[in-house]
Amino acid sequence: MYRSFVACGIFQRWLHKIGVLGFAVWPVVVYSTVQASQEEEVQHHEHQHIVQYRKYGLVGFLVRYGFYHLRVGYDANPFEIEARKVARRQVQG
Ligand SMILES: [Zn+2]
Repeated sequence: MYRSFVACGIFQRWLHKIGVLGFAVWPVVVYSTVQASQEEEVQHHEHQHIVQYRKYGLVGFLVRYGFYHLRVGYDANPFEIEARKVARRQVQG
């Protein structure tokens, strides 16, 4: 189980500014807007990150994610690739 929230105030504006729809830090998912929180693909994407946290643990995931982020960037990060793939598959059925 995990909980989800919608950001507000200056934090919400900052997320919007940097183009983030949502992010997960186990056991919480934060969406940048109500609209983003209602988009199925975004929900599945963030849920997959929760699955990744369960697999590697909080620290284990963050260390691995950070390593790949520094090495190959956001788009090519294997954790992001997996989350995008799973989310797309869920939405397309
Ligand atoms: Zn992601």
